[in-house]
Amino acid sequence: MKHLIYFLFALQLGATDQFWIQCGSLIDGQSDKVIHQVTIRTEGDRIVDIIPGYVQGKSGQTIDLRSATVMPGLIDMHVHLSMEMSPQSYTERFFFEQAEIAFRSVQAAEKTLMAGFTTVRNLGDRDNISISMRKSIERGWIIGPRIFSAGKSIATTGGHADPTNGLKSDLKGDPGPIDGVVNSIEDGRKAVRQRYKDGADLIKITATGGVLSMAKSGMNPQFLPEELDSIVQTAHDYGFKVAAHAHGTEGMKRAVLAGVDSIEHGTYLTDEVLTLMKERGTWLVPTILAGATVAELAEIDGYFPEIVRPKAATIGPIMLGSFSKAYQSGVNIAFGTDSGVSRHGDNWKEFELMVSGGMSQMEAIQSATKKAAELLGQESLLGTIETGKLADIVAVANNPLEDIRAMNHVIFVMKAGKVFKQDP
Ligand SMILES: [Zn+2]
Repeated sequence: MKHLIYFLFALQLGATDQFWIQCGSLIDGQSDKVIHQVTIRTEGDRIVDIIPGYVQGKSGQTIDLRSATVMPGLIDMHVHLSMEMSPQSYTERFFFEQAEIAFRSVQAAEKTLMAGFTTVRNLGDRDNISISMRKSIERGWIIGPRIFSAGKSIATTGGHADPTNGLKSDLKGDPGPIDGVVNSIEDGRKAVRQRYKDGADLIKITATGGVLSMAKSGMNPQFLPEELDSIVQTAHDYGFKVAAHAHGTEGMKRAVLAGVDSIEHGTYLTDEVLTLMKERGTWLVPTILAGATVAELAEIDGYFPEIVRPKAATIGPIMLGSFSKAYQSGVNIAFGTDSGVSRHGDNWKEFELMVSGGMSQMEAIQSATKKAAELLGQESLLGTIETGKLADIVAVANNPLEDIRAMNHVIFVMKAGKVFKQDP
């Protein structure tokens, strides 16, 4: 029902394709300064003008955000829309149909958009659900953010994204490159090419062990350098960026040397790795919220399987510290939450953690707008409020530069020139 209301709302508001958005305060993603009293004019899916003062057009609809702070649509570089962690996460695949997982994901997508995130990177799922979601959102069948999907993550046998980890022997089988499990240079190539065929937008690899998989180590390196080279070279040939999940130092270093575009999590970052990243222009997507979430849940008896719990308890709490270290080093940082580990729609909490880790409020917002668009390779269309760019525009009621928790109160969401949320 809620969907329908949003949808009708969007249709009704979208009846006109021209808007005059009067902004009391504007963070345009570009400037470090707030611009006051300005009107953004949108037409179709684009921003066509930014005019000083409050202007009301003869045609089109005027939107009064004079008491709000307006900014570019937010971008979360690391989500899993088809997952939402619970004590049942490890068994649901045996009880839920693929369609049920997909329908649940629809809710996650809607919550994400209503939280102001007009674009996300989905970094790993089952059955390529996020690729189907991307298409369904583009077709207007469901409501959600613009999705850039990695499809199924690529791992090694027993590695962090091997889909059969922890299963009993007769269920384990021997998954291969199509399922995202590779063990050679040839497998690496095939896995990337399969994702191209599947319609993925980028490649995700699990360069080290991870917290939530049913495996012992959360940090061991899981690919040989030549396997990484094969994946990264093939991916770049196909125009894919490569996002590498990495907690441990050695796996992270190998991934950076192989030329991945971003390190996700980056828990055991060292000065050496940070220097390499800066030299090579590798980005960090910190996902501090995931660390904070699993650290908290690890305290609950029985929440995680016994093999997962100690990893969550050790890796989770140190992620904020490694973020601070990375921030001080000056490495490029793009915003990412790993939502699905935390609850969908709570993405804003990452801003609060980034600020508590030493980043300014303005930089935290830029990491989720201009910076994220750069890592996506979409800086000509997304990430700032500029003439010619897609009209992805959101607003919060209060001033996030005074108190970053204002990011929790998104009152207006426009994606590609269509209004999806407008609180009175
Ligand atoms: Zn993740």
